[in-house]
Amino acid sequence: MFHEARLKLTGWYLLIIMAISLSFSVAIYAGVNNELVRIGNVQKARQARVDTISNFLTQNGLPIPPESQSPNEETVEAARLRIISSLGLINLSILVISGLGGYFLAGLTLDPISEMVKEQKEFVSNASHELRTPLTSLKTEIEVALRDRTMNLTDVKKLLTSNLEDVNSMQRLSNYLLELNRYENSDLELEIKKINLAEVAGRVIGQIGPIARKKGIKITSKLKKTVVYGTEDSLTELSKILIENAVKYSGKNKSVEVKTKNGGILEVKDFGIGIPEADIPHIFDRFYRGESSRSKEKVDGYGLGLSIAKSIVDKLGGKIKVDSKLGQGTTFSVQIPVT
Ligand code: ADP
Repeated sequence: MFHEARLKLTGWYLLIIMAISLSFSVAIYAGVNNELVRIGNVQKARQARVDTISNFLTQNGLPIPPESQSPNEETVEAARLRIISSLGLINLSILVISGLGGYFLAGLTLDPISEMVKEQKEFVSNASHELRTPLTSLKTEIEVALRDRTMNLTDVKKLLTSNLEDVNSMQRLSNYLLELNRYENSDLELEIKKINLAEVAGRVIGQIGPIARKKGIKITSKLKKTVVYGTEDSLTELSKILIENAVKYSGKNKSVEVKTKNGGILEVKDFGIGIPEADIPHIFDRFYRGESSRSKEKVDGYGLGLSIAKSIVDKLGGKIKVDSKLGQGTTFSVQIPVT
């Protein structure tokens, strides 16, 4: 598809360049031709005068000087042919050079688009794949239950609880996809306000605290007031992703430290499983999940949280970085532009 588009684009480039080049050639030829016709006429007039003098000299038996021989009319015609062939050669060279150059430029123009389409396709395929798992489980469970004539109320409740888990999982994924789409949309203008990051982080800790406590994880915080430019929603989402991950990827009875500092800084530190060095360059990619989160004790997730976090930080004009040691823990630091 892109090869065809590249050829078409090259064709259009060529058409434009050749139209310009041919128009110039025609104009140049017309100008030069006029000049040649004028020179030809001057030569003819001179020739007529020379002929008259030669006739006079011949009639009087006088010798004709050699320089008054017939002027070379062919010289004008030859000059015209030379100009036509030079212009033809120049146009041919332009055709070849601009054909190659156009093909190269068309490649450069289409490369980012082709890359985007490729990413989009991968994204759709990943999203469909993630949706298929809970959908298949939902479908199978319902089909089996419909065939089972011996189900009692307890069985039905068990089935519905399992169905609800699948529905929740799909809802989580669709929420993630919507969030991602929202923050990656370059046309979306956030309604930026002055927001105290410490208050946002405090509220998020309040929400996640009970889940963390169930796992025996204690979230400690040092929240210093720092006012940044952002939106309540985006900063809440950002803090939530980082603090939830810190809890998710920490073993039982570990602690998580959350700090906000002057200069719009939010730091989330955990003492959990850490991230292998090889994974670090990929963790912000969409649907990327580290090996450790997929194997052993499987941790729930879609590999979209950090992509959303990164999109939010980019949208707010901030920076996000990670410092992690395998088996020791991870610190995510975010810096959001301050007021
Ligand atoms: P998810 O958590 O749903 O897998 P994320 O995009 O939030 O997706 O994270 C991508 C990957 O980065 C995770 O699969 C995990 O391997 C790694 N990761 C993120 N946060 C942490 C953390 N605090 N500690 C260890 N690994 C982490």
